[in-house]
Amino acid sequence: MSKSIPNRNRSVETIVTHSGRPDPRDTPFVNTPVVRASTVLFENLAATKNPGTKYVYGRRGTPTSEALTDVLSELEGAAGTLVTPSGLAAVSIALLSVLSTGDHLLMTDSAYGPTRLFCEGVLKRYGVETTYYDPLIGADIAGLIRPNTRAVFMESPGSLTFEVQDVPAIVAAAKARGIVTLIDNTWATPVYFKPLAHGIDIALMAGTKYVVGHSDAMIGTIACAESVWAAVKRTYGDMGMFTGPDDMYLALRGLRTMPVRLARHFESALTVARWLEQRSEVARVLHPALPSDPGHAIWKRDFGGASGLFAFELQPVAHERIAAMIDGLELFGIGYSWGGFESLVTLVDLKGIRTASAAPTRPVVRLHVGLEDPADLIADLDAGFSRLAGG
Ligand SMILES: *Cc1c(COP(=O)(O)O)cnc(C)c1O
Repeated sequence: MSKSIPNRNRSVETIVTHSGRPDPRDTPFVNTPVVRASTVLFENLAATKNPGTKYVYGRRGTPTSEALTDVLSELEGAAGTLVTPSGLAAVSIALLSVLSTGDHLLMTDSAYGPTRLFCEGVLKRYGVETTYYDPLIGADIAGLIRPNTRAVFMESPGSLTFEVQDVPAIVAAAKARGIVTLIDNTWATPVYFKPLAHGIDIALMAGTKYVVGHSDAMIGTIACAESVWAAVKRTYGDMGMFTGPDDMYLALRGLRTMPVRLARHFESALTVARWLEQRSEVARVLHPALPSDPGHAIWKRDFGGASGLFAFELQPVAHERIAAMIDGLELFGIGYSWGGFESLVTLVDLKGIRTASAAPTRPVVRLHVGLEDPADLIADLDAGFSRLAGG
């Protein structure tokens, strides 16, 4: 029932507004309904054997799941997209789809913590060895490739310390050896970085963040190039993956406004980052859209924008002072996750999750700049710096 729109050259704003909507010949309503389904009834026995029968069982797809994956595939330029019950499930299913016992995986040292735990847990148990590489390795990744290296996983920028990877150089090195490439693109989303257009085989997102955008649902997305689509779809099906209809609907609803929300996150976060750069309490701001950031040149070359998540290093200071600063913030909630409409703050803990690259040694504070007025956020942080100083 969703209308397929073949033109893939439209802008992201137009795609998220028009794709994945019901055919007006079927219904006058703007939105695809939330279809709750396990059993699908067939017209007759012959229909149960007909490969052309569109819907066969709840887990195998519904109009709601199709509407969501249609929009995502068009945004990503993908051969096909699958949605999972969380971002981490997107990571695990994608890796399980391309790796087998005896294979070797190259994983960025800046990866999301639970991604690393999956490598050290399930993958290790099934005989897949992981080597972590410096996110800034670029073309030198070629030196880490072994005869059994099967996949290279990137995340750019890293969601704690914001290293920007030289994706084209890494993809070129991997492609030269026939190695599958994956990227966790949660930070940029396809609005600001299009992995498949850069030759990456699998683009993942924790849709929990900017796709849903309202901190009220969890979902993951796996967008696939033709090269891997059949393998990923097979594994997803074999693992019994599907996602609840309400969460898929919330993701689809979130997608409708994702580009306009991101534009505001981008602008407001940069305003706050520039203000932080001027503060004497701040040693360094980790935001690739700032010219002072070491990743700026690559970010400018490859990305169309930046989202609302970045961090800053404080000058060395007692933990109690940092706690006083953060605990007293009125507009920044203390919490994990990000990508919602609201601002958040966390104190970054890199213990045990860096083994192949240098990590900041000063305290790192991560902010998600939400959709509030940045002037109010700056005033809140300003008061926080008074508490940091003991005032
Ligand atoms: C949150 C996050 C994930 C995992 O998403 P969940 O929906 O929480 O499972 C994966 N990668 C990155 C970069 C994230 O920030």
